[in-house]
Amino acid sequence: MGVRLCVVGAGVAGAGIAYALRAADVDVTVLEKSRGVGGRAATRRRNGRRYDHGANYLKSTDPRTADLLDAIGPEGLVDVTDPVWLFGADGDVRPGDDRDEHKWSFETGITRLAKRLFARTDATVRKTTRVESATRTTDGWTLQDTDGAEHGPFDAVCYTPPAPQTAELLAETTIATDIAEDVDGEDLEAFRDAVASVPYRTIRTLVLGYDERIERPYYALLNDDREHPVGWLAREECKDGHVPDDESLLIVQMSPAWSSEHYDDPLADAAAVAADHAADLLDSERVRDPDWVDDQGWRYALPDDGIDPTAARTAEPLGLFVAGDWVAGDGRVHAALWDGIETGERIATWGGGR
Ligand SMILES: Cc1cc2nc3c(=O)[nH]c(=O)nc-3n(C[C@H](O)[C@H](O)[C@H](O)COP(=O)(O)OP(=O)(O)OC[C@H]3O[C@@H](n4cnc5c(N)ncnc54)[C@H](O)[C@@H]3O)c2cc1C
Repeated sequence: MGVRLCVVGAGVAGAGIAYALRAADVDVTVLEKSRGVGGRAATRRRNGRRYDHGANYLKSTDPRTADLLDAIGPEGLVDVTDPVWLFGADGDVRPGDDRDEHKWSFETGITRLAKRLFARTDATVRKTTRVESATRTTDGWTLQDTDGAEHGPFDAVCYTPPAPQTAELLAETTIATDIAEDVDGEDLEAFRDAVASVPYRTIRTLVLGYDERIERPYYALLNDDREHPVGWLAREECKDGHVPDDESLLIVQMSPAWSSEHYDDPLADAAAVAADHAADLLDSERVRDPDWVDDQGWRYALPDDGIDPTAARTAEPLGLFVAGDWVAGDGRVHAALWDGIETGERIATWGGGR
């Protein structure tokens, strides 16, 4: 019998693991706390509009990505070709030196990426299942969720939540002493510390909807000196299938400093601030007065650093893997995806099964 694997988290790293193991003799169960897959590569639907309120797109930085998209089915793939312009602390907007990279989403939103990867696998995905602890005995791994249910036994587990949440899981992960001997105790402690010390930035996304189209010569504006309260402002209507032709939808990602300070401010207050900044940046009074608003807070939005790659593999002899953007050392969809795929490939050849 093959390896029984439990993946915690159905973001793109979790989806990448499952996809890499689709033809392997590995039985994959994925436990995901939210109601959908995709994690921070997330899409929301509201009254006929769709918007990517976490990651805005998948870049072609990794040359393997284009082939992968072809392999899983490129139907509905959207390439945002309008340029990204820049602004500084003074709010003056200027053209950027646009690079040649593709910026991909899907007509049905970026969450389609994880959905399509999972659809190519036999993985069992259990949603609304928040893992809170894990135990490793001679029988294997069992995981406990916050509803008191137990999952397992498994031969291996892979944690993919952002590093601070993985650190919380590791603090509640018990390894029987006879098994823990397989890995030096001090190394295991250093591994937990290394995970806990990966810093993350907070981003609050404000969504501003308008019942008329506001045309501009760019897709998005990026604050390149990190001194403005707005970090990124994007026109979701530049993605086919997201916004009706006669409407506009702005995604405003506030800076980490602003987001941390105003994380719990009421939506109306935060949206009013975002709309004021957007109106100034787009030089449009109409933008000051959105017809509807929405938001999403991302406490752990982007890793500011990665874990040491060797430290990340410390617990693998125990069947304990980690994957995600913070393991890749880059807060990007493609980085998390390929870290997941490579971790899956390692698990396929891992010698710890039965
Ligand atoms: C606002 C924002 C904008 C971004 N913009 C871009 C962009 O334009 N381009 C780009 O390339 N990248 C962007 N990123 C980064 C990108 O979204 C991430 O790097 C990538 O999606 C990380 O994927 P992951 O699988 O490593 O982690 P996640 O997507 O965080 O996946 C982890 C999963 O684990 C689940 N989980 C957590 N704890 C538990 C638990 N205890 N039990 C069960 N499940 C659990 C979570 O619900 C989640 O689904 C952005 C991120 C944010 C937040």
